[in-house]
Amino acid sequence: MTPNPPRMPALFVGHGTPMNAIGQNGFTRAWRELGAALPRPRAILSVSAHWYVHGTFVTANARPPTIHDFAGFPQPLFEVRYDAPGEPALAASLVEMLGAVPARAATGWGLDHGTWSVLVHLYPAADVPVVQLSIDAAQPPSFHYALGRSLAPLREQGILLLGSGGIVHNLARVDWSGAGPPPSWATEFDAFVRAQVLAGEDAPLVPYAELGASARMSVPTPDHYLPLLYVLGSRQPGEAATIPLTGFDLGSLSMTSVLLGAA
Ligand code: ZN
Repeated sequence: MTPNPPRMPALFVGHGTPMNAIGQNGFTRAWRELGAALPRPRAILSVSAHWYVHGTFVTANARPPTIHDFAGFPQPLFEVRYDAPGEPALAASLVEMLGAVPARAATGWGLDHGTWSVLVHLYPAADVPVVQLSIDAAQPPSFHYALGRSLAPLREQGILLLGSGGIVHNLARVDWSGAGPPPSWATEFDAFVRAQVLAGEDAPLVPYAELGASARMSVPTPDHYLPLLYVLGSRQPGEAATIPLTGFDLGSLSMTSVLLGAA
């Protein structure tokens, strides 16, 4: 018998602007250091804010295409390719594992920028298979937290659960100059979430819309917040969390990362 691999960490990343994919800054340097420190996963299951659709789908492509799901950015960003392989067998086992949801295999998607803008720094060699899981826009936060719990056994199989979004993500309040400080509602909500996560008090973070005015400003739409609930849902009893990176991109995009398990 082969021994079980050690439990893989689960990682939530605030991805900020897509420009981080081709930039070199404090955030991208921190992602590179984190990728080098993490145990090497057998595969990555990514829950990206940018695959927010009706239904739960799993990418089943052997060669998932790099999807440039944005407009109005410089040409070099459209030339980025992240050629990590997919893993159809993992997709099939996920569909079976999440049969009650139900989850379905999909070949019409690939890796969107929520996934690749971060993975180009975490795993620049693109040699770890990547499967994406969609976020069902029709479901409440409690559904996504519970689904994260269902995914926890994957961590015992050498699979890194990656959530990519943003604890604070208010595009209407972006400061394109990047010069000003983040607004107080943004820093307040980000600090609150970090404190809860560090204390192991995840449950109040699930019904986030009940968390007051700063939460409503920070999470105007659910898409970027929900990947955090997948990661927290996979937390084992008593498992510690760390915050490898914090800060804001363009004022209203939180770059806070949350890591469950040791890097
Ligand atoms: Zn995004």
